[in-house]
Amino acid sequence: MNYKMLQFPQDSIFLVTGGAGFIGSNLCEAILEMGYKVRCLDDLSTGEEKNVEEFLQHPNYKFIKGDVKDLDVCLEACAGVDFVLNQAAWGSVPRSVEMPLFYAQNNIIGTINMLEASCKCNVKKFVYASSSSVYGDEPTLPKKEGKEGNLLSPYAVSKMVNEEYAKQYTKYYGLDTYGLRYFNVFGRRQNPNGAYAAVIPKFLKQLLKNEAPTINGDGKQSRDFTYIDNVIQANLKACLAPSSSAGEAFNIAYGGREFLIDIYYGLAKALNKNIEPHFGPARKGDIKHSNADISKAKIMLGYEPEYSFEAGIKLAIEWYKENLSL
Ligand code: NAD
Repeated sequence: MNYKMLQFPQDSIFLVTGGAGFIGSNLCEAILEMGYKVRCLDDLSTGEEKNVEEFLQHPNYKFIKGDVKDLDVCLEACAGVDFVLNQAAWGSVPRSVEMPLFYAQNNIIGTINMLEASCKCNVKKFVYASSSSVYGDEPTLPKKEGKEGNLLSPYAVSKMVNEEYAKQYTKYYGLDTYGLRYFNVFGRRQNPNGAYAAVIPKFLKQLLKNEAPTINGDGKQSRDFTYIDNVIQANLKACLAPSSSAGEAFNIAYGGREFLIDIYYGLAKALNKNIEPHFGPARKGDIKHSNADISKAKIMLGYEPEYSFEAGIKLAIEWYKENLSL
């Protein structure tokens, strides 16, 4: 089912934190296309102005440049809002190992401020980005909610603490919270630049520039790569989920398993490039394999991912070919 068929009350207002980032800007775009009002709160720390520029003139869009570490900013942004989609955070496992204090301030305190503000402003639903990293070193595949291992990075800790706080806000203050454990999201507008970029846009950019990408480790690691439109659907379905499903976290993935090395050669083939990759050391805190059991989200949120990896990667390749400035 296409998320554009979902119906909300006509005057609904959404707040997307981190709305200048990859996932947040796609959420804003989807909500505008569906005809609802959206506010975007972002400090532009890892997000980019070019991701919001195209919406600035839209009558239903409002951009607020602000930091979720500041509770007053969060309170102001939440006033009159029906649905909060909290995406603001810094990603990257290895970067969090280099700056653990910042990840606590930004990812943990930022999200608790947003929970507090949402509660004070009587927001109807608080949907927030968690991560597959909360499974830590648990080797069982597929990953299933309730079977988490030891956490392997400050980033993973920040996401797990968010989930625990969200549960408390549901239990004690009646805020309907829904944690979405995203598994390796990819698609249009994902940033290909910098040392901490995600692999798919990074490989695509390097291949388009005729450069040989470096694969960390042997390339035999596998992930449940998830196309952005599935994640949009999950956020919107969570906004419509019953209160009986609140206070929980859900795997949001396709439910498949792709090996990095196969992805690399698939992209090279799709772009007609005959370039061999380099192999570098494995990254700190990385897990070897990760794929998701998505039955909980299917049952409790009505989540039905529409795009397979193959369908999504075709769309992503087209978008990067058209939009990447080399
Ligand atoms: P992104 O870096 O593109 O977007 C994050 C946005 O949050 C950026 O625009 C950034 O400027 C903003 N931000 C960060 N700190 C902020 C602060 N203190 N105040 C206001 N804005 C702030 O990353 P993304 O890939 O779009 O990720 C969105 C969310 O999804 C994050 O919470 C991330 O941890 C989570 N997540 C992403 C993936 C993935 O594969 N992309 C996987 C698991 C979880």
